[in-house]
Amino acid sequence: MPVQAPVQLQSIADRVEIAPGVLMPRLGMGTWRAEAGSETEEELLAGLDLGFRGIDTAAIYGNEDSVGRSIREARVPREEIFVATKVWNSDQGYRPTLDAFDAGLGRLGLRYVDLYLIHWPQPRRTLDTWRALEEIHHAGRARAIGVCNFLPEHLDELLSFANVPPAIDQVELHPLLPQTELRAYCDAHGITVQAWSPLMRGAVVRVPELVKIGMRHGKTVAQVALRWILQNGVTTIPKSVHRSRLAENAAVFDFELSSEEMETIDALQDERRVGADPKMIARLSPFMRFVKPPR
Ligand code: NDP
Repeated sequence: MPVQAPVQLQSIADRVEIAPGVLMPRLGMGTWRAEAGSETEEELLAGLDLGFRGIDTAAIYGNEDSVGRSIREARVPREEIFVATKVWNSDQGYRPTLDAFDAGLGRLGLRYVDLYLIHWPQPRRTLDTWRALEEIHHAGRARAIGVCNFLPEHLDELLSFANVPPAIDQVELHPLLPQTELRAYCDAHGITVQAWSPLMRGAVVRVPELVKIGMRHGKTVAQVALRWILQNGVTTIPKSVHRSRLAENAAVFDFELSSEEMETIDALQDERRVGADPKMIARLSPFMRFVKPPR
């Protein structure tokens, strides 16, 4: 069941306006578990060469410096590349967030980022963290600001005091976890949804119904999953450190899933997660609570 107006998809250059005048690629590149150094740099240079223009990183991924190096090495003007990074849990709060942003921008070696995100909801600190994000945004150092892993209840709270509303909510979303309610909420509040783990970290290739649909179109399961996400008006950031898979993930603009196929995929939902559940935030693993990003 689509919860957003149907989107016209044309090419990897497609963008969506997430905040006034800020256009974000609908399909970008993730970098979680891309090792700092040559692995991240080769991924991003290959991806930029293939036409990707969106890059998602985070302080906790430990690869912001490599992301920055790739951007400087690429033969693509900085203003064409959309860079998003995130403030980690241990850095939330007003002053710590401002400091964490400065450090991240330093590692990236950039003058500004296109999007700065709260990585996980930390409800008691959201107000102070958001004030810092608004200040960073007003100073022109983050063209847009947003959140990750916020449930409607977290967004309700944030919207009750935000002067600048969140541009996006980046959440786990894939064929087995379509996030229908959250998408409806975000649609109603003008917040763009972005899917993380769109390929279920690779496990999506084992979903038989997607194999069948893929065969009908001469496409891989990964391509079917990404196309389903994009046709639903959701943006996404699949990660691969292999050029061949980057090319595969980019080649999703030359076929269309029928409404029956979209419905078949919608019906696969079983609330399966490959990552942490924001509902369990209070009980999240020690990693989530105590690990700190590099300085
Ligand atoms: P993905 O669903 O993007 O899957 C990545 C995995 O799938 C990798 O192991 C990759 O392997 C493999 N893969 C990539 N393309 C293909 C393909 N065409 N066929 C088969 N396997 C493939 O998972 P992620 O968890 O990485 O999510 C994407 C991005 O979202 C992250 O990289 C990160 O930037 C962001 N994210 C944000 C979170 C948040 O809390 N805000 C949480 C988690 C992720 P290989 O690299 O070896 O090709």
